[in-house]
Amino acid sequence: MRSRLVNSMEPERYLMDELEAGEAAVELDGQEPQEVLGWAIERFGRQLGICSSFQAEGCVFIDIAWRIDPAVRVFTVDTGRQPEQTYRLIDRIRDRYGIRVEIFLPDTRVIEQMVTRHGSNLFYRDVNLRLLCCQIRKVLPLRRALMNFDAWVTGLRRDQWATRSNIRKIEIDHDHGGIVKFAPLADWTEEEVWDYIRANDVPYNELYDQGYKSIGCAPCTRAVASDADPRSGRWWWETGAPKECGMHCAIETGGFEHELAALLGSHGTNNHPDGNPISAQTAQSEL
Ligand code: SF4
Repeated sequence: MRSRLVNSMEPERYLMDELEAGEAAVELDGQEPQEVLGWAIERFGRQLGICSSFQAEGCVFIDIAWRIDPAVRVFTVDTGRQPEQTYRLIDRIRDRYGIRVEIFLPDTRVIEQMVTRHGSNLFYRDVNLRLLCCQIRKVLPLRRALMNFDAWVTGLRRDQWATRSNIRKIEIDHDHGGIVKFAPLADWTEEEVWDYIRANDVPYNELYDQGYKSIGCAPCTRAVASDADPRSGRWWWETGAPKECGMHCAIETGGFEHELAALLGSHGTNNHPDGNPISAQTAQSEL
């Protein structure tokens, strides 16, 4: 593994190159989530971030990681539009495991500009406005959060959606500065996730008991029929658009990027994760 020293006052940080990550992907692909997370925690320690949106998968790997290391770092992006049930679940997770959940919020000034210009429920009107909202409420805060880590863990599974069918259990995340991205549940089915939750009495979002199969922001998620595709309840009013928000794969349409640049440019700069201001042009190029 290749290491880099950021500066003498900061802890040593690690990056992997493509060859190392590829070899590790082969090594880890047939292994259980416990082994993948153990491998990740051993190598990255406090520089590993467990990223949970508190869906079923996110609760499972918090439980697994906590059993390996109770001091593991857990973080989430709070979009400000999540259901009350999700906020209650976060409190239950805190109480159950005694962990501190690091919360990352969107830039208030950009939110103000967006809702002043387009209204609070802009996402229902146009796919590009929905993607704009996801960029501002999810993607940019995640980018800022990941500046704190050398590796992160997601709950992605291959059978969730076509865009996720090829994910590996470990890969280089080129959308976030080349840090390492783990998907320890990549080859689990929905049924295996729920088997683990029941067997280990893991806290989960009560919305699942009301027919939800995938849970995001309140206005963009609804319950679905028991035999429906799990992600069909997300942005259900859209046809032909990807059931993605941009956190796990870059989405470029040539529509929302222009509007995002206009919003970021409207007050000149936006806070960059490294503490330096960025221009709208720079932000657009980073999407
Ligand atoms: Fe906005 Fe809906 Fe995306 Fe949440 S899921 S960030 S409310 S568009």
